[in-house]
Amino acid sequence: MHAPTAPRIMWNKRAWTDLSRTPAAQLRQIQDEALARYVQEELYPFSAAYRAVFDGAGVRPEEIRGVADLARLPFTTKQDLLKAQSDPLHRYDFILRPTPETIRRAWPIGRKLSLVLGGLRAREELTYRYTPHFLTFTTGRSSDPVAFAYTPHDLELLGEAIARMFDIARIDAVEERVLNLFPFAPHLAFWALTIGGFTTGRMVVPSGGGKVMGTDGNLRLAERINATALVGTPGFLYHMLRQAAEEKRNLSRVSTIVLGAEKVPPGLKHKMAEALAACGAGKVTILGTYGFTEARMAFAECPTAYDVSSGYHLHPDLGVFEVIDPKTGAVLPERTPGELVYTGIGGHGTTVLRYRTGDLCVEGLTYEPCPHCGRTLPRIGSELKRVSEQHALSITKIKGTLVDLSAMGSVLMQMRDVEEWQVVLKKKNNDPLDLDELEVRFSPRKDADVEATAKSIRQGIHLATEVVPNRIEAVPLPDLLKQLGMESEMKEKRYLDLRPK
Ligand SMILES: [Zn+2]
Repeated sequence: MHAPTAPRIMWNKRAWTDLSRTPAAQLRQIQDEALARYVQEELYPFSAAYRAVFDGAGVRPEEIRGVADLARLPFTTKQDLLKAQSDPLHRYDFILRPTPETIRRAWPIGRKLSLVLGGLRAREELTYRYTPHFLTFTTGRSSDPVAFAYTPHDLELLGEAIARMFDIARIDAVEERVLNLFPFAPHLAFWALTIGGFTTGRMVVPSGGGKVMGTDGNLRLAERINATALVGTPGFLYHMLRQAAEEKRNLSRVSTIVLGAEKVPPGLKHKMAEALAACGAGKVTILGTYGFTEARMAFAECPTAYDVSSGYHLHPDLGVFEVIDPKTGAVLPERTPGELVYTGIGGHGTTVLRYRTGDLCVEGLTYEPCPHCGRTLPRIGSELKRVSEQHALSITKIKGTLVDLSAMGSVLMQMRDVEEWQVVLKKKNNDPLDLDELEVRFSPRKDADVEATAKSIRQGIHLATEVVPNRIEAVPLPDLLKQLGMESEMKEKRYLDLRPK
């Protein structure tokens, strides 16, 4: 008979609470040590890609004693990952693949000894913890998706990271009932939340979003489970809440909204809270999160008033963020705007070191304790922009000017009198050689002054992007919802580029 083993996926909240209140200087030491050990015992010996990177830079793995030493190594870009995965000889280069020889050479004696003494069972476990069994993909439209491999060990790390997020967002009580509105897809957001529920043992119910159940189905599900927290993209969530308010649905138990994938302007938070109030809800906390495929985890804001943001709380033991000058690559000091660069600590499967995210963090990185929750974790500012470079997918050229589409979106989504909106890019006369045309479609709120709203849209977009729309058109809400594909697309079509390629 085998003795039953303890469940290993139940997370250790106590350890996290201690870690998140450890003095910042000590946290940096923990991070430095974890990084050094990871580079020596995992990344360098088991990753063909990073062995080549270190050797090419003339850096020995033991020379990385902490975060400050990372600057000696070159960056990894999305192009590097795409190049490797499309080359049959190199497609597994970014995946950790230990062999008996590399283990013998890289691991300290104690770790090797427990492997030897553990016999067959220990060797089986080693194989289990390093063998990929799950993939997610990046969502880029202009390039091939990049696959990220997870092993059972990585799903534990993801579960841990999201359990921490539940704690930061204060949705970790036993009574919580979380509705997961992310679309069913091989993307990080849906799985992160699902696995976070498994790890914490809290109720997380997936709906698949608008395409799977329709808005009505999602609302009925939210009522049926007495949802206390709604998690999804700002676009679909606002649409759902607006309809709920109109139909006087009962969402009185909802006290938290967690938004994934995009930055949340205060105006949109106010609109969401107002709609929820019409459904009987009391005070509602609305937070943003930041996650990306390459990190295989996400980071959350903590509860604050709608017009302030705590920034995203990081996991210093599981990864490192550096902020760099996107032009020179130099590492920048605290609280300086720059591009976010990510290095994972502890992961198996597909791993990245010094990965350029293409996200420009306007407020930079800080090690000051959070003034809102008191946690001592490092934080990055919530306002992110795309770096104006080739690998930035949401940057597009309109009328010869580089425009960050998300900046346009944040103007529109927070306007009180705008219920829904869509941005359309066309060529004049549909002629590929003619001028670009920018059209904004919007559905005005009931009783809104349509002329005045159109005028403030024009001004707001001009101010945020330096481009003036050619046409601003008011469209009835049901028509615009159809054009957006709110219930037919996995993600609504906010930006429609009809220009011939
Ligand atoms: Zn905080």
